[in-house]
Amino acid sequence: MTNSGDEVLKIVQDMQEVVEQMRLDDIEENPNSQDEMFTCSACGKTAPYAGSIQYGEYRLCNSCVLYAEVGFKLKKLENIADMIKAMEDKRLEELCDYIKADEQAQKN
Ligand SMILES: [Zn+2]
Repeated sequence: MTNSGDEVLKIVQDMQEVVEQMRLDDIEENPNSQDEMFTCSACGKTAPYAGSIQYGEYRLCNSCVLYAEVGFKLKKLENIADMIKAMEDKRLEELCDYIKADEQAQKN
């Protein structure tokens, strides 16, 4: 069974609202959560705790939570390890950017 484009769009929009609401709830509960940072297990970016979710041993940033939840809904991902694997290139990219920025900083 395949999802039509409209269905996918609807799922993404619905999840976007859910995930954004989670972020706002986190901030309401603990205002510091938007300033406290961690490194996302999926994309490798430094992200605020607000709106992040701990899935077993992994913690995902707000944007990755959206990808993961949409992936689960569309049955593109079986579990969070699939998601982490799917994001591998993204993490590498992020790491390379970090190394480049570091090199740049050392030159100056
Ligand atoms: Zn992330």
